[in-house]
Amino acid sequence: MDIKSKIREVQDFPKEGINFKDITTLLKDKAAFQYVVDQMSKQLEDLEIDIIVGPEARGFIMGTPVAYKIGAGFVPVRKPNKLPAETLSYEYELEYGTDSIEIHKDAIQKGQRVAIVDDLLATGGTVLATTKLIEELGGEVVSINFLMVLSFLNGKDLLKNYKVESLIEY
Ligand code: 5GP
Repeated sequence: MDIKSKIREVQDFPKEGINFKDITTLLKDKAAFQYVVDQMSKQLEDLEIDIIVGPEARGFIMGTPVAYKIGAGFVPVRKPNKLPAETLSYEYELEYGTDSIEIHKDAIQKGQRVAIVDDLLATGGTVLATTKLIEELGGEVVSINFLMVLSFLNGKDLLKNYKVESLIEY
């Protein structure tokens, strides 16, 4: 299937100069949605994954059906003050300023095999921060799987210590 043809490109969103990859056009297409979930699941099915971690918000959309399909649990990583129980936070650098993300402290047990699933790799900042949270809880990041990678932003360099896979690249 030609996945790229299902993804809408929106010029100058959310800021001028950004060509935003809008996956809502793919998600509403039943054949395309099923295809990408099946393909991402295939990349993970033999890795004995215990937990899929999905960063807010599109990591929830891609991560939960993949977790269901491969028989893993799902753990959300969220923006600050969204998770109700005790959390662990990690602060990371943005182009201007900093951002932080959180995970529940009891979300992952020591030694569990974890995969991170998200829709898109840009600079890699979000997912690198996510690896820090998982590792601090004692989880092993076995694989990081994206629907798409914007290769011109070199996010894979930041994630060079990990196995990174995607279905398509720009
Ligand atoms: P990074 O931390 O790799 O720079 O940014 C990746 C995060 O930003 C992902 O969670 C992704 O959902 C979001 N993101 C950045 N640009 C785009 C885009 O063009 N399309 C979509 N769907 N998400 C984007």
